[in-house]
Amino acid sequence: MSISQSLAALKNRFEASGRMPVVFLGHGNPMAVIEDNPYSPVWAALGRALPRPQAILAVSAHWMTRGGTLVDVSARPRTIHDFHGFPPELYAQDYPAPGAPEIARDVVALLADDQTRGDESWGLDHGAWAVLKSLYPAADIPVFQLSIDMTKDLDHHFEIGRALSDLRRRGILILGSGNIVHNLHLMRPDIPPYDWAEEFDALFTERLQARDFKTITDRQKLGRLLTLAHPTLDHYFPALTIAGASDDTDELLFITETIDLAAIAMRGFIYS
Ligand code: ZN
Repeated sequence: MSISQSLAALKNRFEASGRMPVVFLGHGNPMAVIEDNPYSPVWAALGRALPRPQAILAVSAHWMTRGGTLVDVSARPRTIHDFHGFPPELYAQDYPAPGAPEIARDVVALLADDQTRGDESWGLDHGAWAVLKSLYPAADIPVFQLSIDMTKDLDHHFEIGRALSDLRRRGILILGSGNIVHNLHLMRPDIPPYDWAEEFDALFTERLQARDFKTITDRQKLGRLLTLAHPTLDHYFPALTIAGASDDTDELLFITETIDLAAIAMRGFIYS
């Protein structure tokens, strides 16, 4: 099935279930916002195929907190240019979508633990806005972010997804943004993907298809392959949260399956 046929099927499934899909996108280089690249046209097609959400809850690799999960409850989240050494045109980009303070406060209550709090200090980092610009270019759907607690292990981030999954029935799009393989130290422009990058991407993909979430949340079992694919885990956690928000009635669709710069997996996946 071609990607456009798959996206059309996704639309039909939503009409049958009335429940929002959940989406993970590999965001990679923020230059995708201003340069031609293979990914943004696919994200734009996905945005057109997805049902229009009431609000978007974005879980980005770039809002890292320690010792708690924060939820952005601001009315107008600012656009954060959290990168260095890029052209001025990229710093001039803005994503002026409104926030969703009421829904965000409901999410704080839904997670129901004393380490989750509302917060107004963040906004939208490039993990969120760089893909939202393609998905929903009009910036007219309320959006708010949820942070990733770096002190927690893999299974915690999966469980966060479980806890959030009810939001799908309320028309809220849960969007994860990170990368399934992300090793900035070893990325190179002129070599094919590393074996370990292909191996981790393939393993993750197979385990998602098998709904074997034990393996992808088991740090010991993943061992050295995980350390190579993710020297730090920030870009991996959002993928686990999105897997956690799925259930066995969902169909799984993969998009943008390439590995960039030998060490950055751009694979995205959608449950609907
Ligand atoms: Zn990133």
